Amino acid sequence: FTSAFHHIEKLTDELEDINANLETRVQQQTQELRDANERLRGLSLQDPLTGLKNRRYVNEIVYNLSETFLKLKTNKEVKKRNLNLENMGIGICLVDIDHFKKINDTYGHEAGDIVLKKIAHIFKQIVRFDDIIVRWGGEEFLFILDRMDIQFLPEFLKKLNKVVSETPFRISPEKEIMVTISIGSVVFPFYDKEPNKITFEECISLSDLCLLYAKRTGRKRAVYAAPGLRSAEY
Ligand code: GH3
Ligand code: MG
Ligand code: MG
Repeated sequence: FTSAFHHIEKLTDELEDINANLETRVQQQTQELRDANERLRGLSLQDPLTGLKNRRYVNEIVYNLSETFLKLKTNKEVKKRNLNLENMGIGICLVDIDHFKKINDTYGHEAGDIVLKKIAHIFKQIVRFDDIIVRWGGEEFLFILDRMDIQFLPEFLKKLNKVVSETPFRISPEKEIMVTISIGSVVFPFYDKEPNKITFEECISLSDLCLLYAKRTGRKRAVYAAPGLRSAEY
């Protein structure tokens, strides 16, 4: 009887061990699944060629981004502490590569892809860590510069144009080409005193118009529109 009892006790211990092991494994696998899901989600919001964010990402964040910003601007605590947010805005820049089709036509689609990857790399190096760069379309990119001092936007636009136009793009071991861009830009909120008058999406459309204007007036330039200032070119 005693030996049978010991036997059962031993079995119970073993069962407990197995149970504990199983639990750990289930926990591990659940975590792995969560990680995989997270990675997949990340990938679905990313452009595979350049590694930049895609349009879907913008759709997901736009509401929170603009609302959070406007709340911050009207926050009583912030006002009490006399923090001057008057000059703060979200910079929106729509960037399009000039005569990109010609690069594809002359050097091939792969050369075009190299240019896209390289330009994405240049863009990433130019912005702050938290800024968002989106591959908006084929050879079109959207910059979202959150909480920036808008005084510096003209400087940023100039720099962006300059860096791209002065960087040689190596498209094959023996060939380097030069590339230029055109930029359309506005700041959100468009009207500081009436921040809800023009939505963030409408601000993107406005920068698209500025971009069109930059193209029409000669390319390799930035057009910035703000109220009171009809437009400024850099
Ligand atoms: P503009 O200065 O007016 O912007 O002229 P553009 O030639 O840059 O503009 P257009 O819209 O005529 O041509 C854009 C080209 O970009 C056409 C399309 O085939 C090419 N393109 C779009 N996506 C990709 C891509 O992923 N890789 C490559 N290599 N080319 C692409
Ligand atoms: Mg183009
Ligand atoms: Mg285009």
